[in-house]
Amino acid sequence: MNIILLGPPGAGKGTQARILMDTIAFVQLSTGDMLRAAVAAGTEVGKKAKAVMEAGQLVSDEIVIGVVSDRLDEPDTKAGVIFDGFPRTAAQAEALARLLAEKGLTLDAVVSMEVDDELLVDRVSGRYTCAGCGEGYHDRHKQPAKAGVCDSCGGTEFNRRAEDNAETVRARLDAYHSETAPLIDYYTGTGKLRMVDGMAEIDEVTRSIRKALGQD
Ligand code: AMP
Repeated sequence: MNIILLGPPGAGKGTQARILMDTIAFVQLSTGDMLRAAVAAGTEVGKKAKAVMEAGQLVSDEIVIGVVSDRLDEPDTKAGVIFDGFPRTAAQAEALARLLAEKGLTLDAVVSMEVDDELLVDRVSGRYTCAGCGEGYHDRHKQPAKAGVCDSCGGTEFNRRAEDNAETVRARLDAYHSETAPLIDYYTGTGKLRMVDGMAEIDEVTRSIRKALGQD
């Protein structure tokens, strides 16, 4: 099964993708994660993407589509893909349809996670993850039980994304509303769009997504 998780930054796409992968055979294809890895590794793609990402703007369609195309050539994607943070523009959506058709794959569903902007700013500014296992935390909403030690794996290193500050979040939300939200209409037209309430508790959102995918 190939699905897209569509939603603004902070909607919980990455969190839900990781949970869904426990029960459905998917690989997570997060363009944000792939671009951050390219920046950290100092590759050509990373050098081009770094400043754009720090400003909260969208990396060019050409770069992002190239990264996705290469990733879809890897054999593990045959089992099924959760696209997280891609597509984000009409050109990316069209490129994805083309890439899937070329590779003989189909898109099964697009799950749109609906969340209010003010909640997103609060969620994103303050979030961080364990460097060891990826468990998510938040300065105001979810601190580890023992300060500085991950509840899940005992790790003591944590990562914060450079672009997760209140000012950049606003720019990312603007980009979402102008470039990405129109994809809701695009995918409604294909009959594949499913809406879920992204403001509920994490477990509840997972249940809604599984239901939307006919998996419960
Ligand atoms: P994310 O982790 O998905 O919020 O992505 C972090 C940043 O990476 C975004 O704010 C963009 O600068 C860039 N990015 C990730 N995915 C895309 C995409 N599909 N198109 C353009 N830029 C992207």
